[in-house]
Amino acid sequence: MTHLINEPMSKHCSLRAGGLANEFFVPADIDQLSSHLKKNKKTVIFIGLGSNLLIRDNGFDGLVVHTKHLKNISFDNSVIKTDAGATLAKLSRFAGANNKHGAEFLSAIPGSVGGALAMNAGAFGSEIWQYVVSVKTIDMNGNIQQRSPDDYVITYRSVKAKHNDEFFVSAEFNFNQVEKNIEARDLLDKRNASQPIGLPSCGSVFKNPNNNFAAKLIEACNLKGFCIGGACISDKHANFIINQNSATAKDIEELIKHIQTTVADAHGVALEPELVII
Ligand SMILES: Cc1cc2nc3c(=O)[nH]c(=O)nc-3n(C[C@H](O)[C@H](O)[C@H](O)COP(=O)(O)OP(=O)(O)OC[C@H]3O[C@@H](n4cnc5c(N)ncnc54)[C@H](O)[C@@H]3O)c2cc1C
Repeated sequence: MTHLINEPMSKHCSLRAGGLANEFFVPADIDQLSSHLKKNKKTVIFIGLGSNLLIRDNGFDGLVVHTKHLKNISFDNSVIKTDAGATLAKLSRFAGANNKHGAEFLSAIPGSVGGALAMNAGAFGSEIWQYVVSVKTIDMNGNIQQRSPDDYVITYRSVKAKHNDEFFVSAEFNFNQVEKNIEARDLLDKRNASQPIGLPSCGSVFKNPNNNFAAKLIEACNLKGFCIGGACISDKHANFIINQNSATAKDIEELIKHIQTTVADAHGVALEPELVII
């Protein structure tokens, strides 16, 4: 267990920017998490790998729960059970090793299971909730619930719970494809060819609008390479913002607003961020 005060969230978010978390708690297991939540009175957020999250420069005056030690994965009766902090890469490898097909796309997404469930993460035509059998959640009072996909409204990169203030602690998946979709190695090669992998980013900043691509709209506005402060639009992929030179969260947010205004003026399309900003 780790328990820190005023922890810089730039250390935990892949954009490498952002303010301090007032309280930062890394439980060793779900029992520790539950006891801590029972005592807690602050606003809570959970963080996995921080690959889709930006905390504003003035920080978060609440409790951040980091799930990185909740990472067990097991296989039982054709269902894979995994804790929320397990990485998607590990889940994908584990499924493959147990001859369960369909999880290959997850190897290309640098997140945790909990973060992917919260975002309905997806790639190459698949989305994580397609394979969910059930999830376990924990509420603000530390109580565990079992939920099914019917308890959520699940759409493209959006998951709305029909109940409030619960966080994912584990999930059961049935990867039931008859054959592999594609080799994980090929997916990573495709990614490396089109995205600025290895530089601090949050992946795609905006959701793709209906029947269109955010990257195409941004590129058509000649915005590739455009910077505000240390935050720049990638030369390689127009829907990626890179922290090129010690960007603040404010630089990144202003660049997001600039892109939205420019694309709305030029194409009449309102781009909606995929990135979660707190
Ligand atoms: C290079 C790169 C490529 C990417 N490519 C893709 C892609 O192809 N497809 C895609 O969908 N995404 C992509 N992403 C975005 C990101 O990886 C995914 O959204 C991922 O699922 C986020 O997981 P995380 O653990 O990092 O979540 P975090 O960034 O830690 O959190 C994201 C959100 O989930 C919430 N959350 C985290 N854990 C929990 C939990 N246990 N319970 C409840 N809420 C929780 C957080 O509070 C926050 O609101 C990419 C990002 C990068 C940097």
